[in-house]
Amino acid sequence: MPKIHTIDLNFQHENEAIATYLIETEQGPILVDPGPYSTFENLKAGIEALGWRVIDIENILITHIHFDHAGAAWKFTEHGATVFVNPIGLPHLKNPEKLWESAKMIYGDNMDSLWGEMKPIDEEFLVGLSDGQSVEFGDAVFETIYTPGHAVHHNAYMLDDVIFTGDVAGVKIENGPVVPPCPPPDINIELWKQSIAKLRKLNAKGIYPTHYGYHENVDEHFNQLEIVLDAWSNYMKPMYDDNLSAEEITPVFVDYVTTKYKELGLNEEQIQVYEYANPTWMSVNGLLRYWKLKEQGRI
Ligand SMILES: [Zn+2]
Repeated sequence: MPKIHTIDLNFQHENEAIATYLIETEQGPILVDPGPYSTFENLKAGIEALGWRVIDIENILITHIHFDHAGAAWKFTEHGATVFVNPIGLPHLKNPEKLWESAKMIYGDNMDSLWGEMKPIDEEFLVGLSDGQSVEFGDAVFETIYTPGHAVHHNAYMLDDVIFTGDVAGVKIENGPVVPPCPPPDINIELWKQSIAKLRKLNAKGIYPTHYGYHENVDEHFNQLEIVLDAWSNYMKPMYDDNLSAEEITPVFVDYVTTKYKELGLNEEQIQVYEYANPTWMSVNGLLRYWKLKEQGRI
């Protein structure tokens, strides 16, 4: 089994909000989800602390193209690294303008400080990986599991008996609860549950969500995720039916989620890390869009 290291990107100076995984293979170190470009210096320091240099990274697996996962990938292509990504996400790494503009609608003027630059990646450095395809780096064989629901361009990657789950297994920090990040525009609860069922069948010993670190008790993890997915989407439904705006819903939903966190014993500091890893307000728009598309019969 190749050695897997967790690098803390110290996103927004918080510990354990966003991880990059460095896997030492017979063909050199590879990364899963290099994170946003805003934390590139921390990633570089993490790579160097493990005895490698940035130019040693020749291969990068991206679970999906959201900025907090894929934003820094372009930087590694400057020295010729190959970036593996779901084919639906590939055009957006080639031309990130649309991705940037739609994210700007969510994050406004905070784009640069949150995510940093995202430069286009030349096609020659991009390789699409679809469901069932595998990619080998010597002793490390990664199997691609297409896992939409959080994003239409989402892959998970299985290596031996563990899975790098990106966001499809939700967010879990240390011993905290499992929660589902629900940003617009792709949230689809039914598809998400199908993806969970697909991952369950693999009987993995453990999972590595990008937010954050290694977790065992995989079945219990997925049970919790499904419960909270239903709870969050069902909490939103009556407010959607009442035609409330996102502005009206956000404080109510944030209060609901914060209360749950407190009931589960999280302190202010721990809640803050959860908010950096998965801002609760962001899920309002994502879930409202889900209910709208469902009502229109489009999903
Ligand atoms: Zn995501």
